[in-house]
Amino acid sequence: MTKIPLAVRSKILSSYDTFIFDADGVLWLFNKAISGAPELLNSLIEIGKQVIILSNNSTRTIDEYVEKKTMEDAGIEVFGVGADHVEDYTKGNFLTNIDVSRKVSAVVVSYDIHFNYIKLMRAVNYLKDPNVDFIVTEGDIIVPGPVPDVILPCTGWISSAIRTVSGREPFSIGKPNSPVFNYISEKFNINPKRTLMTGDSCFSDIPFGNRHGFDTMLVLSGSHSLKDVEKSISEDSMEFVPKMYAPSVKTLLNDEEIKEENVVDEISGA
Ligand SMILES: [Mg+2]
Repeated sequence: MTKIPLAVRSKILSSYDTFIFDADGVLWLFNKAISGAPELLNSLIEIGKQVIILSNNSTRTIDEYVEKKTMEDAGIEVFGVGADHVEDYTKGNFLTNIDVSRKVSAVVVSYDIHFNYIKLMRAVNYLKDPNVDFIVTEGDIIVPGPVPDVILPCTGWISSAIRTVSGREPFSIGKPNSPVFNYISEKFNINPKRTLMTGDSCFSDIPFGNRHGFDTMLVLSGSHSLKDVEKSISEDSMEFVPKMYAPSVKTLLNDEEIKEENVVDEISGA
């Protein structure tokens, strides 16, 4: 790995017109902003850069609102959003009274900390109809949480459970796949050669950038570490290897604040 000069920020700023950031583990950890992230976004916007925040996480309140409103505007009925708590599994008779009479077009799977047996039953029974699409927003295995070194399962286990029981394969629309790339390409003016994708996931953000012609930067403030990068290099899985890495987005904030230990490193061969 070769260190690039401390003036890296200037080089990065002049090299890209569009900056795409993942959110969890990059700009914030749960409800707390990562140090320097708001200032960085504001300064990029101020100097006329195009900034896109591209998250696979649909659990944020504002995301839910926008998503729900957009879907309703498009004539799509939205229901079942939220906790869907089951107070007591011993009460009621959900094994015999599961209601799948509602006509649906798709089963859509995203991050859901309240996923349960009843939701699994409902999903796989809807999916018996081959005309019902099986869509997942992403396949991330873990999501960075507020407590260091505590693993939080993301969406992967939910889609795995539904895949196992239904025997159906999902259509994935989030990073690293192309539907979300096609969406932002239609909506924004993006030149991949002048775009930097910054993320904390070696399995969604980095391959998303690599597959679609962006330069990629891994920040070490979230899901993955340099050990993951080294493992991918050793397995010759270069799709998961970023072009460069930094401790966090704060590294890019301004030249004065870039300390010796905080320089962005470029990963040779990526
Ligand atoms: Mg993330």
